[in-house]
Amino acid sequence: MRSHPADYELVAPGNLPSVLSLLAQEPGTWLPIAGGTDLMVQYAAGHLAARKFVSIWNLPELRRIEILPGEIRVGAGCTYTDLIENALVNREFPLLTSAARWTGGVANQNRGTLGGNIVNASPAADSLPALLMYGAELILVSVRGERRVLYENFHTGYRKTQCAADEMIQFVILPRQFSNYRAYTRKIGARNAQAISKVCLAALGRVAGGVVEDIRLAVGSVAPIPFRLTETEKGIRGKRIDPALILLAKETVAREIQPIDDIRSSARYRRAVTANLVAEFLNGFNEAGNKKSSVLTRWNSLPSEEAELEILPCCGSNSWARQMAALRPIENEDSLLAASSKIWRSLTEADWVEAFAHHPRIGHVVAPSTAPARSAQWSSEEQQKVGAAENDVLAALMEGNRTYEQRFRRIFIVCATGKSAHTILDILQRRLRNDDQAELQESAEQQRQITSLRLKKWISE
Ligand SMILES: Cc1cc2nc3c(=O)[nH]c(=O)nc-3n(C[C@H](O)[C@H](O)[C@H](O)COP(=O)(O)OP(=O)(O)OC[C@H]3O[C@@H](n4cnc5c(N)ncnc54)[C@H](O)[C@@H]3O)c2cc1C
Repeated sequence: MRSHPADYELVAPGNLPSVLSLLAQEPGTWLPIAGGTDLMVQYAAGHLAARKFVSIWNLPELRRIEILPGEIRVGAGCTYTDLIENALVNREFPLLTSAARWTGGVANQNRGTLGGNIVNASPAADSLPALLMYGAELILVSVRGERRVLYENFHTGYRKTQCAADEMIQFVILPRQFSNYRAYTRKIGARNAQAISKVCLAALGRVAGGVVEDIRLAVGSVAPIPFRLTETEKGIRGKRIDPALILLAKETVAREIQPIDDIRSSARYRRAVTANLVAEFLNGFNEAGNKKSSVLTRWNSLPSEEAELEILPCCGSNSWARQMAALRPIENEDSLLAASSKIWRSLTEADWVEAFAHHPRIGHVVAPSTAPARSAQWSSEEQQKVGAAENDVLAALMEGNRTYEQRFRRIFIVCATGKSAHTILDILQRRLRNDDQAELQESAEQQRQITSLRLKKWISE
């Protein structure tokens, strides 16, 4: 039965404290309405008991994306369009951007919010498997204060959540620790947009030398709430990807999920498709890692000295270059990256410092005269975003560099690719608080990442 338009009340206080105090005065009476794309459908269908709505649409406290060194905070009131248009979300959290792109049509993306998708808690909601993958946390706020809960524990059952009647989600926290993972997601539906998914898989993985270092898999639409395939993950982690492992993974997936028959699909179909998606994700690692590179083939046949000289700019340590050349022939990108990380970690502190010295200061893209020309060119590409910074940020970076060099007696090393000067400044200021040993380890890890990116560029030239 359709509700008559006059039988509801809608208020819009315009700021978060007023909304929270209204929710606290009469808990359970007022329902927050953000974009309304779920609530209005439920209201029109006569499925909604609530009659008092408080608008949280466009509240400034909920509609912003804050970028911190170790995490980003996405306001629960951000729309799908806000996510799609944010360069950092695109780069570091591509699973979330893909989900946003296929959530309804453009009109829905302009209006529907991330917070609404989470609290509406549909088993088929598209952004939820992505949040599981990124280890998201939620900041819940009320007049009683705020609390931080792991998103993984937020849904307590079919359309049930931990959100109390006087509480709201203010932020979705995404830790920035998965940018070097391969990301994969597929939504299986009648079509991608404007269709509820029959199965949705989001996955992240890191493979070195053909061996799975880490893997994360999450599925939607096959249970009352989206969930991680922890058994399947356990069976894959630490193993070499080969046909036997893929078969085992498919069998474990089919056992681990308990889908139902409904109007959109059958349980049998959902089980088979989910297993096939996991297989497709795993196969993708082999295709990428096994891709032959003509640069690598040529390098494999060079005399040792020439091979060392050619690969040196990727890192800057002579000992690393010597050991890499001695390992030839190296067959593919996967083996190259695995060998590089292993050799790098086994080097002495002096070797590490030698590599650090090949970099220009951040914000000062002229490399030291001892650095090979190739290294200087890569440095300037890596620092592309820093060049666009305002003068005051560049000045603060210069000052930070000076303090860093006085404190640690070497140059500040950070994997600058894709990072803005603001972000780098935050990282620099945080790292100035490190003790010597922690800072050496952190610089070495940053240099390892720089080297991996340079190796990838080098062999795809
Ligand atoms: C045509 C159409 C196509 C769609 N396609 C898809 C699709 O492909 N994939 C998909 O996943 N979804 C889809 N949806 C569903 C919907 O757009 C999303 O779930 C959307 O994210 C809901 O956000 P909203 O801001 O509109 O939520 P609202 O409708 O405003 O609210 C939904 C629920 O969340 C609560 N809420 C909202 N924000 C907060 C907050 N910050 N704190 C606490 N509670 C809050 C509300 O009280 C309500 O209970 C579609 C909807 C339509 C109408």
